[in-house]
Amino acid sequence: MSAQLLDGKTLARQMQSEIADQVAAFVQGHKDPPHLAAVLVGHDGASEVYVKNKRLACEKAGIESTLHRLPEDVSQEELLSIVNALNDDRRVSGILVQLPLPKQIDEERILHAVNPLKDVDAFHPENVGRMVQGHPRFLPCTPHGVIQLLTRNGIETAGRHAVVLGRSEIVGKPTAIMLLQRGLDATVTVCHSRTQNLPEIARQADILIAAIGKAKFVTTNMVKPGAAVVDVGINRTTEGLSGDVDFQAVSQIAGHITPVPGGVGPMTITMLLHNTLLAAKLQQGGQSRMLNA
Ligand code: NDP
Repeated sequence: MSAQLLDGKTLARQMQSEIADQVAAFVQGHKDPPHLAAVLVGHDGASEVYVKNKRLACEKAGIESTLHRLPEDVSQEELLSIVNALNDDRRVSGILVQLPLPKQIDEERILHAVNPLKDVDAFHPENVGRMVQGHPRFLPCTPHGVIQLLTRNGIETAGRHAVVLGRSEIVGKPTAIMLLQRGLDATVTVCHSRTQNLPEIARQADILIAAIGKAKFVTTNMVKPGAAVVDVGINRTTEGLSGDVDFQAVSQIAGHITPVPGGVGPMTITMLLHNTLLAAKLQQGGQSRMLNA
């Protein structure tokens, strides 16, 4: 392997320890501890693991967390009433509704019901709009984790060509928008399932972000030698967990590369902790603007 590893696990540990110090200082200022309320519907194996890991990380950082478990057949109205109760609960700083939700639930309606000041996933249109216009309150966790991995590893984005594979509302689109903002200043191309000549476009990338959800989709013919490759994908295959990038092959030619697991995943959790602390600050005073990590 010739590429340098973008080690999300180590960076996440370091940033979570910084967040723990900030939480301790916040509580010392006679504030209530930040508190994440997680809502988990049904028994999806992956969702169970994600919520468990998020709560464990909260605990380590001194952030309180509660889990609100609901049955798979919960009604839209019941779920809405839980979200509303959490919105009204002064002890709760941040609300996380773990996706995906079952078919009978209108996901958008639930996410839009979360109080924007408690929207630590940054899915509410008010927070998305603020982010797009360059005045963010909360930044979405996975894209923010990707940006932190790049910038804290000294990877220059200004003027460089970033190609984002995937245009989902949760990962691809916000990652592209963030890279485009003043400060990061990348030249951004977004590819999706209707893109023609995707390998040719990907090969032009100085920074290639893969967020497609297809194991080992990105092969050496899509990567410029020396490029920084960030793999967001988490795919469960018969051989175990795999990213969207063929790590074995691509790490021979990339300049930097994230592993899966141990890349973007731990950074997503870290940025959730960051947002929960920020939410507590916004609600309890002493913080009038979004502060990036
Ligand atoms: P979605 O399924 O919502 O979006 C996938 C995107 O990839 C779509 O824009 C789709 O295009 C595009 N796409 C799919 N197939 C192709 C193809 N053959 N060629 C080009 N584009 C294609 O997925 P998410 O964005 O939610 O997640 C992407 C991956 O990231 C998944 O593996 C997911 O598990 C992982 N993930 C990881 C996180 C982490 O913390 N590490 C957090 C969130 C997600 P179109 O829009 O045209 O359909």
